[in-house]
This record gives sequence, structure tokens and C-alpha cells, in this order.
Amino acid sequence: PAAMALVGVTRRYRQGEGVIEILKGAELVLEPGQSVALVAPSGAGKSTLLHLAGLLEHPDEGEVYIDGHPTARLSDAERTRIRRLHVGFVYQFHHLLAEFSAVENVALPQMIRGLSRKAAEARARELLTYLGLGHRLTHRPSELSGGEQQRVAIARALANAPRLLLADEPTGNLDPRTSDHVFGALAELVHATGVAAMIATHNLDLASRMDRRVTLRDGRVVELA
Ligand code: ADP
Ligand code: ADP
Repeated sequence: PAAMALVGVTRRYRQGEGVIEILKGAELVLEPGQSVALVAPSGAGKSTLLHLAGLLEHPDEGEVYIDGHPTARLSDAERTRIRRLHVGFVYQFHHLLAEFSAVENVALPQMIRGLSRKAAEARARELLTYLGLGHRLTHRPSELSGGEQQRVAIARALANAPRLLLADEPTGNLDPRTSDHVFGALAELVHATGVAAMIATHNLDLASRMDRRVTLRDGRVVELA
């Protein structure tokens, strides 16, 4: 099945006396191993789309499929279970745990899921090494550069082998060269692991690193060249 599919998704927000329709019958299918950049100006609805795809928000109409599972009619508890099983998130600010090393930060979500420390740390080392951080395994976040910290956050988001990786401006606070490295690493990992990734960014150069580019127009998802 598709890693994620939005079918006829509408999302409205109450604003003052009125209602605004941010998404109006939006459609988007994300295949495993595919990366999509979501490029749109501030206020267009990028975060809304990511939150709907990651089951953090509920559509007013339409259906969100994760790995083939329809989710709109599920209870909050069931949606949380599917999110934890299938979705990884990366944010602009990485929220790494300051007291823990890179390996421990990436191992922790797996240990919470029941993996032994040994197995979790082995996978953490593998992911971090793949992301070019083999020489930074025992460093704490404060000992890492901004780009390195974001790569640790990407490794952590992938630690539990999600079907879907969602990132909201993951390099928003990094310089252009570092951002390009992070996007390059992301694109490679998507192909290597078969995860599907949707990454919101303002930056068209970075977007060109992804397999597809989409934007939001009149509440719909539109493919860019
Ligand atoms: P982007 O991520 O592209 O900046 P958002 O998805 O955050 O856009 O927001 C899209 C629009 O929806 C904005 O106009 C914002 O003010 C509005 N919006 C977002 N969340 C809410 C909310 N919880 N209540 C009311 N309006 C909201
Ligand atoms: P946890 O397993 O830590 O309890 P959840 O399953 O609640 O986390 O959420 C999974 C991911 O979604 C986490 O990375 C968390 O940061 C993110 N998340 C949870 N709630 C929100 C929210 N309201 N807005 C943005 N991100 C959220």
C-alpha cells in the first residue's frame, strides 16, 4: 500500500466569527521510498497538512490512510497507536535530550518500544553512521554542530522504522550549506530505508533534492515541476 494517502481531505478552522477552509478536498499519495517537498508560503497550510498526515489533527471531511489503514473513524487512542507505530517527526528545533549522547538519544525511542539497550544502540549506531555521524556517537547535543544535531534528530525519527517521516522546516535554523547536507542525507536515507518522507520547506533549492515537489493552492495539493 501507499505509505500515506490523503483522500478528499477538508480542514476548517474557526477564526473569530467566521470559518476558514485551509484544505478543500486535498489529495496526496506518498509511495514508500519516495520523498516529497511541500513548498508554500507561510500561512498556506503546510503544518496543517503535516499534522493531518501524521494523525495529530483530524480532517473535517475525507480520509487519511497510513500504510493502507483508514484512520478517520478511529478513536484518538487508536490513532495514537498507529502514529507511534508508523510515523516519525522531525522539527525545526530538534528537542534532543541534553544529558544523553547521540547514540542514547536515538536508542531511547526503541527501548521505550521494548527493544533491549544492546539492540537499540546497535541500530542507533548504524543509522548515525549512515548519516555521517560515525565519529560523533558518544557526543552530547551541546558538543555537536546544528547540522549534526538535526541529523541525530532524523536518526531518532527513523529509529523505530516508521513508514512515514514528516519534517517541518527541519533546517530552518541552519546555514545553506549545512541545510543542503542535511537534505542530501535525508534523500539518501529515504531511498535506502524505503520510508516515505514529506518535508515542508520554504527553500526551492533544498526542495530540488527531493523526488517530488508539491504546493498548496486554493486548499488543494498541486504538483510542481
Ligand atoms: P503554514 O504551516 O503553511 O504556515 P498553517 O498550517 O500553520 O500554515 O496554518 C494555515 C492557516 O490556518 C493559517 O492562516 C493559520 O492562522 C490557520 N490556523 C492554523 N491552525 C489553526 C487553529 N488551530 N485555529 C485557527 N486557525 C488556525
Ligand atoms: P510520545 O510517543 O512521545 O508520547 P506521541 O505519540 O504523542 O509522542 O507523538 C508522536 C510525535 O508527535 C512526537 O515526536 C511528538 O513530538 C509529536 N507530537 C505530539 N503531539 C504533537 C502536537 N500537538 N503538535 C506537534 N507535534 C506533536
